Amino acid sequence: MGQVYAQQIDAEWPVVRAPEIAGYLTLLGDSLASVTGVRDLQWHFTLVNYAEVNAFALPGGYVYVTRGLVERTTEMDQLAGVLAHEISHVTRRHAVKQMEAAQRANLGVSVVCVLTGVCESTATRIAIELGGAAVFAKYSRDDERQADEDGVGLVVRAKVSPKGIPLLLQTLLDERKTKPGGLDAWFSTHPYEEERIKYTNALIAKLDSSKLAALTTDSPRFQEFRERVKKLEAPPKRE
Ligand SMILES: [Zn+2]
Repeated sequence: MGQVYAQQIDAEWPVVRAPEIAGYLTLLGDSLASVTGVRDLQWHFTLVNYAEVNAFALPGGYVYVTRGLVERTTEMDQLAGVLAHEISHVTRRHAVKQMEAAQRANLGVSVVCVLTGVCESTATRIAIELGGAAVFAKYSRDDERQADEDGVGLVVRAKVSPKGIPLLLQTLLDERKTKPGGLDAWFSTHPYEEERIKYTNALIAKLDSSKLAALTTDSPRFQEFRERVKKLEAPPKRE
């Protein structure tokens, strides 16, 4: 099921195929996916050249992040945290549930649009909002909690610091207060932000501090990747 929509996204969206960029994202994503204990999935990590901040997963192991999200990160552990959270939505089968709900909603608009909050046109987006479909794109509070809990566990097992998870959430929350609008897609598909910051901080506080100090927060390869993403051609203008 995920594959069908992944093909649609890959055909219609400005996915970044530059090997240095796509290669690094795959490397980082695989390093996290490899510690899930799930062996029967083939993971795909894809960067989309959209200025909007967003990250989402399709069933079967398709994880997407936007350029806008990467540009908001400052260190590797923040992007790793987002990927780990999305990976957990796949392994916990939340992504399947969400897609089934989106299909059931059958609003006459693209399921991909409902799932991701990324719609081809403003008109489509407004139709979705009027139809209340933004609700269908959201994971439940429990699913978000579980993905955060698994996400913290995953990055730690991959020897990456979990502190990047609440840090990036806080960055996005702060930005929304000063510049509302640009983060609409993110907040429509990732609700409960303030709660998630508290929850992930509480999980981190339970970890052994010396063990925590030994985990990686950043890497030169990540910084190279981020610089390359910032220099990508301007995202295509959408209506
Ligand atoms: Zn989530």
